[in-house]
Amino acid sequence: MVEIVKGFELARRIDCETAAQIAALGRAPRCHVLIEPENPGQAAYAARLGTAAAALGIELQTEAYADDPGDTLERLRRLGAARDIDAVITLYPLPPGLAAEDAAVLLGAGHDVDGLHPENAGRLALGMPNRPPATALACKLLAEALAGDLRGRDIVLVGASRIVGRPLANLLLDAEATVTLTHAATRDLASHTLRADIVVTAAGVAGLMGADHLRDGAIVLDVAINRGADGLVGDVDLSAISERPITITHVPDGVGPVTTACMMRNIVEAAR
Ligand code: NAD
Repeated sequence: MVEIVKGFELARRIDCETAAQIAALGRAPRCHVLIEPENPGQAAYAARLGTAAAALGIELQTEAYADDPGDTLERLRRLGAARDIDAVITLYPLPPGLAAEDAAVLLGAGHDVDGLHPENAGRLALGMPNRPPATALACKLLAEALAGDLRGRDIVLVGASRIVGRPLANLLLDAEATVTLTHAATRDLASHTLRADIVVTAAGVAGLMGADHLRDGAIVLDVAINRGADGLVGDVDLSAISERPITITHVPDGVGPVTTACMMRNIVEAAR
């Protein structure tokens, strides 16, 4: 039978470490969140961030992107220069005409908690991570929690985005895993995923993987959040593997809570 795992216990463990860091800091970290309030996904994520921050004693202030792109750029510049703010989260998608990497540059390496500023991304690529993108860090910690030491493990990543696949590949290389990065142009995806000890999928394509893509004993982190007819689903067709000995994360309560905890960790790291 397939085993479906949630991320709440690991998230609690990360929160405990973050609480200790805040106590050592001796003050409440302060973070601004920029959102598009009309976007239900962003509003829901901002609400989850708010709940997590309140529980840890992090001051989180949410504000809407400006209607005018030029005003948003100016606001990012202002927030980046603000001495009384530790971190800024820009929820995606950003307003039209604004790239995530450009936003990170305007905020500066110190205020960027998404790991997208060239300095933070460069540190990660060089094996000196300080603030890896929260989802990538969450996947690495979940993989360790479920599989133990990652050294020598065959790990196949499905999706090579800047916030999941690419940074996660670097984190897993640091853990001495053997990493394969696949993407939309990869030929014969199953030939890669079938030999994996661990598959991390973040393509955003419901039903992308089924019984023919996974071997017995595999651990699957399903990062994707797709809207299906019966609610939220990941990239893996759960019905196709329901009788197989495979461990897979719940959608959305697998990677999601751990990502939120890692974002809180990154805010405190920025404050330190
Ligand atoms: P993205 O669109 O930036 O990247 C998607 C990646 O998947 C690309 O590299 C693309 O080449 C690849 N891909 C697309 N179709 C593919 C296919 N058929 N085969 C193999 N690879 C394919 O997306 P993103 O921002 O990285 O988000 C991906 C998914 O993860 C989305 O569903 C998003 O909602 C979800 N997500 C979840 C969390 C979380 O914490 N749970 C966080 C971030 C993103």
